[in-house]
Amino acid sequence: MKVFLQFVVGLTVFLGVSFGLYRGYSFFYGKKGGNNYDWKVIQQKKNIIPVAIIGSGPAGLSAALYTSRAHMHTVVFQGPQSGGQLMSTSEVENWPSVGKKQGPEIMQLLKDQAQHFGAVLINESIKRVNFASWPYELITSDDQVVHALCVIIATGAFPERLKNVPGEAEPWGKGVTGCAICDAAFFKDKDVVVVGGGDSAAEQALQLTAYAHHITILVRGPKMRASAAMQDRLKKFDYITIKYDTMITQIEGDGSHVTGVTLQTPHGSEHMAIDGVFLAIGHKPNTDIFKGQIAFSPTGYIAHACRTQETSQEGVFAAGDVSDERYRQAAVASGDGVKAALDAERFLQHIGFDEILAKKIERLLYDPIAIADLPDIEPIESLDQFKQVVLESNVPVVIDFYTKTCSSCAQMMPYIKSTAAHMKNKLLFVKVDIEKVPELKNRYAITTAPYFIVVKDGLVIGRHNEAMTKRELFDFASRFVQE
Ligand code: NDP
Repeated sequence: MKVFLQFVVGLTVFLGVSFGLYRGYSFFYGKKGGNNYDWKVIQQKKNIIPVAIIGSGPAGLSAALYTSRAHMHTVVFQGPQSGGQLMSTSEVENWPSVGKKQGPEIMQLLKDQAQHFGAVLINESIKRVNFASWPYELITSDDQVVHALCVIIATGAFPERLKNVPGEAEPWGKGVTGCAICDAAFFKDKDVVVVGGGDSAAEQALQLTAYAHHITILVRGPKMRASAAMQDRLKKFDYITIKYDTMITQIEGDGSHVTGVTLQTPHGSEHMAIDGVFLAIGHKPNTDIFKGQIAFSPTGYIAHACRTQETSQEGVFAAGDVSDERYRQAAVASGDGVKAALDAERFLQHIGFDEILAKKIERLLYDPIAIADLPDIEPIESLDQFKQVVLESNVPVVIDFYTKTCSSCAQMMPYIKSTAAHMKNKLLFVKVDIEKVPELKNRYAITTAPYFIVVKDGLVIGRHNEAMTKRELFDFASRFVQE
């Protein structure tokens, strides 16, 4: 009986392991994509990228560091927020081994490290993908088609907005915002509310302490879910108040600014006069362009095979917050990026991509425009200079209002430079740091950053109060070109 039992247990273990190995193998190779990896097809294509990475947060850049260090030509499409969510995080004290550092500093180190090994980082977004046949097609916001041998998706997550709260949509960018690090400077000595009870809410409140007069954090439940360390930091400021069990039911404004909010509190409805609403109510994965191309989890994140970064499409990997609904930490995203890079390397080996093939396709590689060669945009630093350069200009002037901590402002600069170079002599582009010339911010009712106005003969003939893609900026500026 004992021998029989041992036999049954042994057989079960053997079958289990065999099935597991078979499933693991089949998930990794062969069964999903059914692709024909025909190298002759590749040699008829142009704009080839062996490893294309979409997104430039900790996941995308850590993947780029590994793939480029492994001598795989890597192009990172940085997307609308170069550097990802850490760019709007001030102090980071849980990035392993560096002690306390600013989020943007960490991302700069990571960029430098990836570039050191040869990764090419470009200020471009991907607007469409086609994973139906290999090599995979990626269409840039500039309408270029590139062909990727493998793809690492690291598009992260974007901040949620309130739903069904009257008044939220209209004043977006005029007092309702999701980015304290971009917009805090507009709320000097003002009273503001931060909505949310997580680490992002604590982070935004702390960023506002350098500017705002009073900050009220509105937490919908009985306690904050932010880490104890973050909650301790909040306690150091006597002008931060936390209201629990409180929800916003209405945002009021005068058409150009927020003036107050109505709150639902445990004691009933309450009105609060405030000047700004900072939302920090969680994030949603950036997955729109991948719908219909790969499999998702029931909650809308990109699905993985167990303990790998593979997606349902062979040769397409995902890393970081776009596929992580559980941990959502920068260090975890970075680890995911490393795993995705190793998975990508293994995939390329599997399909026979070696040094000989890499050499053969060298002349077909995607060669993005070097942004370093574009001319600089003139900074306006005084009212006199503004009068001379802008008010006396013969052509319309596009003014880019920015703050030095606003990452989407920095991200847009290469787009502005290339649009300016394109429209030379027809349109003039200048930039204004709102903290250096606050009079201009007040004169033109600038309420957020980046903010673009177009001035001709002293009159404002165009406005745009949000970050734009390269194409959107080009289309916006084209409307004011004088032929
Ligand atoms: P979280 O999901 O952690 O928190 C979202 C908060 O918003 C919760 O308190 C939630 O309430 C509240 N909320 C959701 N919907 C609404 C609504 N409609 N009205 C009012 N409140 C609402 O998201 P975060 O963006 O804060 O953080 C995401 C991840 O990033 C986390 O893992 C966090 O630890 C990490 N992070 C780390 C930082 C750091 O270490 N420095 C900085 C920022 C983020 P409820 O609790 O009731 O669900």
